[in-house]
Amino acid sequence: MRSFLLGVVWLICIPLGISTSHAAEHGVVVLQYHHVGDDTPRVTSVTAAELAQHFGFLVENDFNVISLSQAQKLITSGEPVPDKTVAITFDDGWRNLYDNGLQVFKQFNLPFTVFVNPELMAESPHLYLSWQQLSELADYGASVANHSSTHTHMTWQQAGESKSQWLERQKKDVLAAQAALDSALDGEQPQHFAYPYGEFNPQLAALLEQLGFIAFGQHSGPWGATTPRAAIPRFPASGHYANLTTLKTKLLSLPLPARTVEPASMVLEKGSDEVAVELSVRDIDDFSIDGLNCFYQGQQINPTKQAAGASQGQGWQLSLTLEKPPLGRSRVNCTVASQSAQGRFYWYSVPLVRPNEQGRWPD
Ligand SMILES: [Zn+2]
Repeated sequence: MRSFLLGVVWLICIPLGISTSHAAEHGVVVLQYHHVGDDTPRVTSVTAAELAQHFGFLVENDFNVISLSQAQKLITSGEPVPDKTVAITFDDGWRNLYDNGLQVFKQFNLPFTVFVNPELMAESPHLYLSWQQLSELADYGASVANHSSTHTHMTWQQAGESKSQWLERQKKDVLAAQAALDSALDGEQPQHFAYPYGEFNPQLAALLEQLGFIAFGQHSGPWGATTPRAAIPRFPASGHYANLTTLKTKLLSLPLPARTVEPASMVLEKGSDEVAVELSVRDIDDFSIDGLNCFYQGQQINPTKQAAGASQGQGWQLSLTLEKPPLGRSRVNCTVASQSAQGRFYWYSVPLVRPNEQGRWPD
């Protein structure tokens, strides 16, 4: 009788394409753009035609494109995230979003967020969107959010400045930018922050969280239930990342339930010739840990994997060593195939910045 019933369940489920186990866990894929145009640095640009192609792809393939506010609500609700949920962001508020992007925003009317630097907008109005233009873009899907007042490397301490003075300076900067947004736009704006250059450290993340913000970096991977609220990843979609073949894999990626144990901060110690990276990965039945691979600077690195947790069945401790990370920003990407969703990957990224002897690095 029991096997008969199981057979009936199997017969019903298979034609509907319902998997009886191994269900994939979904997250929100956040895309990150900068310029729209063909006369700006390619690495941070998409042309209007490419942007229209991306937006068209999302619409034609039934992606659920939502605003960051809707995404935040969804993630914090603890409810399952619908499959193929995507949010769109633009950093810096370049004027070319209006000059070249407006036609695309009008055509598709998808929600997106523009992260702006209010002091830079006031200093160089010919480069940046005006509040008036931002209001007009809001009619075609735009929300406006905080990218700091002046777009500095926020983790850099000034000469003679104490740790607490540095943190106080950052707090004032973030709050001044938010006050400018609130006064120039229609009242209180969402507390969404994008770190300039995607750079942060644990003190900054704690500050943003304490002030009530969610905060976005520039390391890749989807935003899932276990993502820290002040270290949310985004996938770059400009330059050679604009290619739809590779972008498609990212749009369909799933959040790997991992956290970084080591290094404690993305900003490495000076003279870090060898960097130990350690991740804690929760075990879910939709992937096999054996298939998990990490990639760094175009090289595949196989981490050592150890069962962790009280019953040795709750998760995995992954360790790998990076030799001579380059000066400035880099990232380690770790991926593993979903067993239930063919061609789709769980994805987690570890951002790193290696400083020079003066504790600085290039933009
Ligand atoms: Zn920026």
